[in-house]
Amino acid sequence: MDIDRVVVFDTTLRDGEQSPGASLGIEEKLQIARQLARLNVDVIEAGFPVSSPAQFEAVRLIAQQVRGPVIAGLARAVKLDIDRCWEAVRYAPRPRIHTFIATSDIHLKYKLRMSRQEVLDRAVEAVKLARGYTEDVEFSAEDAGRTDPGYLCQVVEAVIDAGATTVNIPDTVGYMIPEEFAALIRKLYQSVPNIDQVTLSVHCHNDLGLATANSLAGVKAGARQVECTINGLGERAGNASLEEVVMAINTRQDFMGVSTSVETTEIYRTSQMVSKLTGLEVQANKAIVGANAFAHEAGIHQDGVLKEKSTYEIMTPQSIGLERSRLVLGRHSGRHGFKARLEEMGYRLSDEMLEKTYQRFLLLADKKKEVFDEDLVAIDRLVKLPINLREYSIRAVTSGAEAMGEVTVKIDDDGAIVIGRAASTDIIEASAKAYINVINKLVARRKAAGGAGKSK
Ligand SMILES: [Zn+2]
Repeated sequence: MDIDRVVVFDTTLRDGEQSPGASLGIEEKLQIARQLARLNVDVIEAGFPVSSPAQFEAVRLIAQQVRGPVIAGLARAVKLDIDRCWEAVRYAPRPRIHTFIATSDIHLKYKLRMSRQEVLDRAVEAVKLARGYTEDVEFSAEDAGRTDPGYLCQVVEAVIDAGATTVNIPDTVGYMIPEEFAALIRKLYQSVPNIDQVTLSVHCHNDLGLATANSLAGVKAGARQVECTINGLGERAGNASLEEVVMAINTRQDFMGVSTSVETTEIYRTSQMVSKLTGLEVQANKAIVGANAFAHEAGIHQDGVLKEKSTYEIMTPQSIGLERSRLVLGRHSGRHGFKARLEEMGYRLSDEMLEKTYQRFLLLADKKKEVFDEDLVAIDRLVKLPINLREYSIRAVTSGAEAMGEVTVKIDDDGAIVIGRAASTDIIEASAKAYINVINKLVARRKAAGGAGKSK
């Protein structure tokens, strides 16, 4: 049986770049576009050429230099936009013009001040104009989710007649519920007579946290293009996240019955690059690419994963380009996870030693929440060094995207205070380093004291 392929349309550089707080330079956009090509997305929406000279330049350079995916540019349904868009994307071996106009009554009345007939005529005109330049023309009915379904069907039929090859149904304001959105897609398939001539696309926003769910519901109902962004960036609460949509399709192919061409092992790298270049951090518990997405802390979970990964992992970290899952050593970890991590690091301890070290580790974990590899190396010393933590404090040194945090750890050593300090953009890293720092000082101090004692 042939499995249908879903076209992955990445709009990180257009909708994603509209994220509040994200702004990318031309070089950065090129870098991301090249990585998106390695990720093997089908379409890169490179920008909105008419909106500024820098946007135009970025789209033009991407069209000239990035090979593999279709390169699309966005254009309102007006001649100037479509002309500028074409001037920018024309250098791509496979260029696409993506033109749009709003179709919901609320947008017609307050934003466009146009009648339904006027909007329909304008849409048809824009598609025809774009088709004069290229055979690959996408039309979006902006705010389709809140558009009268009967009217939406009319518009879709008319733009297909005018030559659109992809028709996109955006839930622009993230208002839809999955079942409702699927019903809308099904209605289009049932009511628009020429619908089989185009690829139907979905573009969902995450205002209610439903962007991925709505996109998948759309695919289930027959849509064969999904518009999405890396890390779910985008206007307001963002777009459907590419990594979520793609990994859901991959992991649940049994249910979804479709596939994508995305090279999933490039997902993690792409996510990190986009996070770094936009300055928008990925939340730790973000699905697929968050720091905790493949981390297990609970002892029962760690024990299960060590025995058989599938007990608590529905996909492998390797499938998104991570080396391995992370067994986070914290106070919920059991002896199994603790021993496994020590062995991974090359330490083999006797049962008695292991038990002693484990008890020490629990004390440390209580204070520190998460324990790092370096701590485990220090742990050997800790066994012999009773420590008395007096103070643990975090101070922001600078603010903004590159904020530095400084961590201070104070230890009471027989009445003398030993201080460890470290700064990093990553507060957790700073904590670990400050901790190691203070322990090293403590060891040095006691060695010196011991030496002095002997000389007496
Ligand atoms: Zn959007």
